[in-house]
Amino acid sequence: MLIVKKFGGSSVANAERVFNVARIITEDYKKGNDVVVVVSAQGDTTDDLIDKAHEITKRPNKREMDQLLAAGEQISIALLAMAIGELGCPVVSLLGWQAGFRTNTTYSAARIKRVETERIRSELEKKRIVVVAGFQGVNRNEDITTFGRGGSDTSAVAIAASMKADLCQIYTDVEGVFTADPRKVPNARKLDEITYDEMLELATLGAQVLNNRSVEMAKKYNVEMEVLSSLNPVPGTKVKEATNMEKMMISSVAKDAHVARVMIVGIPDEPGIAFKIFSRVAQAHINVDMILQSVGRDGTKDITFTVPEDCGAAAVAALQEYADRVGAKSLTYDTKTAKVSVVGAGMETHEGVAAKMFEALSEKSINIQMISTSEIKVSVLIAAEEADRAVSAVHAKFFDEM
Ligand code: ADP
Ligand code: ASP
Ligand code: MG
Repeated sequence: MLIVKKFGGSSVANAERVFNVARIITEDYKKGNDVVVVVSAQGDTTDDLIDKAHEITKRPNKREMDQLLAAGEQISIALLAMAIGELGCPVVSLLGWQAGFRTNTTYSAARIKRVETERIRSELEKKRIVVVAGFQGVNRNEDITTFGRGGSDTSAVAIAASMKADLCQIYTDVEGVFTADPRKVPNARKLDEITYDEMLELATLGAQVLNNRSVEMAKKYNVEMEVLSSLNPVPGTKVKEATNMEKMMISSVAKDAHVARVMIVGIPDEPGIAFKIFSRVAQAHINVDMILQSVGRDGTKDITFTVPEDCGAAAVAALQEYADRVGAKSLTYDTKTAKVSVVGAGMETHEGVAAKMFEALSEKSINIQMISTSEIKVSVLIAAEEADRAVSAVHAKFFDEM
């Protein structure tokens, strides 16, 4: 069997954890399996490297930033390979480029174009365990690129897809995917399985347990993922295509606190305004999420929308000239908001999910600023300081009464 195993930063945070992971790997190897391991930087290494860059400059050069951040994973692959060697198994560590990760040229958010797997295959033929640095590759200029925060999950899925692995196991510091972040909601329950579509929504809506691009890729190439704990050997959560099982109405509650709300007040109430606003935002390469337009009154209206937290200032900058020209009353953004969402494939067939969520919030007197829905999710924008309380209340409403 060919097994791909990925270990996150907390799973390899110190020497003891590195040996713990080495034991998990060698156990599978000794059973006769081919094992490819993807590993993240230890503990808070990536955050520390980002801080170091900011000690030098507020706006680090993107190429140099990738060069810097890729160093985190270089440390962990070497240490893990040493630990596996200590346990008596043959092993080789490979940086992203050595493992064949070819990407486009978008530094800090590079897309994987392909994995040229010859090197990994030849190492496996030599009966070595292969330890690959996650989150990094090389572009056509032979420069190092990284995939964006949490990108090691995508490295693992890319290898599993390219090599048609039998298993793709994502080891982390919790036992699987839960009905809410188990660190915030103590009575959250572990899910045995979750569909790609639900997991993709959850990951995009703020549940950090899997990176959304990894789930997108897993769905595209039909790679079944399993999320499990590196510290507690119990069955985890399978991420896969929908089965015929009765769909759960709601599978999980998620929070995203990294949201900015942009408000433009007192603009003309006439055709073409939304186009004028959102085409400018799009030109600035900013993703818009929720949108709210007020009813026109006295010839003017207001538009409010949300963008990723670090794009708030850029969205305002993109609209300033337009706002001045049409005499808007104000153009502002704030980041004291958070998005709370419920996700579940069963929503399509169970009515009343939104009402139930709003009931939970109303019972706690939490004000809803914006709402958006799709077939499998309902999201609300609320004050950031109320987000954790909101998650608990919504979780209790859906799961404690079951
Ligand atoms: P790693 O370093 O292993 O990649 P991450 O920190 O990226 O781990 O992701 C694991 C964390 O995701 C958990 O510690 C947990 O707090 C958080 N999390 C958020 N939502 C969920 C959820 N629904 N189920 C499980 N974990 C979640
Ligand atoms: N080390 C990178 C990060 O912290 C990649 C990863 O952990 O997946 O974002
Ligand atoms: Mg992660």
